[in-house]
Amino acid sequence: MQDIDLNNITTDRLLLPVFAENNLEADVLRLDKIHPDVSGNKWFKLRYYLEEAGNTDKKTIVTFGGAWSNHILATAAFCRLKNFHSIGVIRGEEAGANSPVLARAKEFGMRLVFQSRDNYRDKKLPVELNDPGYYLIPEGGYGIKGADGAATIYAHFEKNKYTHICCAAGTGTMTAGLIINANSSQDIIGVSVLKNNTALEDEIRKLAGNKMKNYRLAHDYHFGGYAKHSPALIEFMNEMFRLSGIPSDFVYTGKLFFAVNDLAAKKYFSRGSRILIIHSGGLPGNISLGKGTLIF
Ligand SMILES: *Cc1c(COP(=O)(O)O)cnc(C)c1O
Repeated sequence: MQDIDLNNITTDRLLLPVFAENNLEADVLRLDKIHPDVSGNKWFKLRYYLEEAGNTDKKTIVTFGGAWSNHILATAAFCRLKNFHSIGVIRGEEAGANSPVLARAKEFGMRLVFQSRDNYRDKKLPVELNDPGYYLIPEGGYGIKGADGAATIYAHFEKNKYTHICCAAGTGTMTAGLIINANSSQDIIGVSVLKNNTALEDEIRKLAGNKMKNYRLAHDYHFGGYAKHSPALIEFMNEMFRLSGIPSDFVYTGKLFFAVNDLAAKKYFSRGSRILIIHSGGLPGNISLGKGTLIF
């Protein structure tokens, strides 16, 4: 199986008209290139959890997610690489949840345990998984360890070059990690991919604690909600690929790039700003779009 390769990470200039027009520079940190299955930010968010599991002699990792979860797929692949057993507690009944993502997770040896939506929502661990030998990672890798891992993304770019660092926010763990290690003159912008996620700010503050810095959360780019999309979003993703050769995913990074483009058009960034956009991966999720929807 292919290993994670952090040397593949590059910083690519994003040449969209709006940046030149407004005297802005935008670069993309290509975390999507570290591995086809453990895409982007997931490796960073998982690394300290798996390190602790290894240090405490736990051999089995249990975590939670939906049928299309990048976190589930990344955990399955990462566990395979590091010789852990993995168990995924999956939201919803098995019949409706046979997604390519879960099929791939199974190939990596993940055992899938399906939970009714009610039990999943209450975060009830199935009794059979109540084993002190198991190491639990919260849904989406949300937690201090996840944020501390995401903070190490800074090792892969020239931090002081940028005035703004932008990322997509699901649980907010990556956003919190970026905030933790930002310098005091930098702005971190988290683009929420969920609709009306009013808890996001608190969730981020819980993780960043007294290391809070300048940040802004953009709540207007969810396109109807988590994993929802519109023709305008798909057209933007295709156009960006035509102009830059950079692919994006419709759940997270497509909304992020759209948001940064739109904020630039609305003069949110002052002239001369240097913007870093974190490409956190997510490309495997595009399989759920019909063939031919995206040109990449
Ligand atoms: C999981 C994921 C995110 C969201 O990260 P959080 O730390 O949960 O906010 C962003 N982008 C991609 C591609 C993801 O898979």
